[in-house]
Amino acid sequence: ETNEPEVQSFDELDLSPVMRRAVAKAGFTKPSPIQGELIPLALDGMDVIGQARTGTGKTAAFAIPILEQLDPLEECRDPQAIIVVPTRELADQVAVETQRLAEGVPTEVAVLSGGKNMNKQLRQLENGVQVVVGTPGRLHDHLQRGTLRTNNVWCVVLDEADRMLDIGFRPQIERILRKCPRDRQTLLLSATLPPTVQRLAESYMHKPTVIDCCKNEMAVETIEQRYFTVAQDRKGELLERLLDREKPEQAIVFCRTKRGTDRLYRKLARSYDACGSMHGDMQQRERDRVLQSLRDRKLKILVATDVVGRGIDISTISHIFNYDVPQDCDDYVHRVGRTGRMGRDGVAYTFVVPGEGDVLTSIEQRINKELIRDTIEGFEPMP
Ligand code: ADP
Ligand code: MG
Repeated sequence: ETNEPEVQSFDELDLSPVMRRAVAKAGFTKPSPIQGELIPLALDGMDVIGQARTGTGKTAAFAIPILEQLDPLEECRDPQAIIVVPTRELADQVAVETQRLAEGVPTEVAVLSGGKNMNKQLRQLENGVQVVVGTPGRLHDHLQRGTLRTNNVWCVVLDEADRMLDIGFRPQIERILRKCPRDRQTLLLSATLPPTVQRLAESYMHKPTVIDCCKNEMAVETIEQRYFTVAQDRKGELLERLLDREKPEQAIVFCRTKRGTDRLYRKLARSYDACGSMHGDMQQRERDRVLQSLRDRKLKILVATDVVGRGIDISTISHIFNYDVPQDCDDYVHRVGRTGRMGRDGVAYTFVVPGEGDVLTSIEQRINKELIRDTIEGFEPMP
């Protein structure tokens, strides 16, 4: 583990003038802790396991060193870096952020994710690509078809690695890693790194350096975390009361199931105009449209499953509602992390029904912090 003093400015990192300009243009004044630690190691070609809280700039931490070391397209038309992420929406977002940091240098970034036009992806690969961002399923498809060439890949990034393993992508990920040259660099990032990930790292990474910017403090300090105890059949009513009380700039309401998401969305849509929903059974077009309206601030309330729990970065999201408690504590950390990005404020509410007290306790143990019990008239704490 490293114990270097915090990097105070991008000038201390060994970046090219064009990258310094891109970073300044993106509005980044100072590297975040994970960026200060990861960028020099990655530029040195090291394998790194990086753990850092939600919303602390992990994307740029791996995108900057990749962009800095790309061969120009004229010299190499096959992909040089593959970034693997758990959802299609996150693939789009990471590609946009990467392209933004490539400002000033023509750079070909392709998104290879499911639910999108295969022909377009094939054309792009044919025309030459430097960086690929994709979901494990579609990347694996391209490997099978022989349309994604890996001979020249010198860096593989696994973003939100734990999530990809959780949702059953281990075989695809292992296939991708085995297909890429052995002497490549591998970077693995998340806010949460359970033992399953460490095992993957042991098999596929070369003497990784571990950066832990969390130091077991999972809770982002700028997110106020509260909970209510509420009967299952009164959750809807409580949510509406809280929306009226809080008047969120933008909110995500997390439900456990797709059906529950649909049901709550239909209920809320009767009283609120700027309301949308998203889950894994929706058409990709619709998912893209909904997320774009959220980014454009046309939507104020998004009802969703954990499909938007990871990685999505929208700075104006002020409130998170865990309408249903998350499956596990790591999911809690990520859901709540959709607010409070890069030092901004946020509030997260968790609805706990009687009998879920132990879930609450394990969340508190995980984040090493107690949630504040909240009350509102008509919703007094239950015994
Ligand atoms: P994470 O992956 O850690 O959750 P992201 O990479 O999504 O975080 O970054 C969160 C937000 O912070 C993004 O909007 C990103 O553009 C912005 N950001 C990244 N690095 C910096 C920086 N050094 N200064 C200011 N903003 C930054
Ligand atoms: Mg991220």
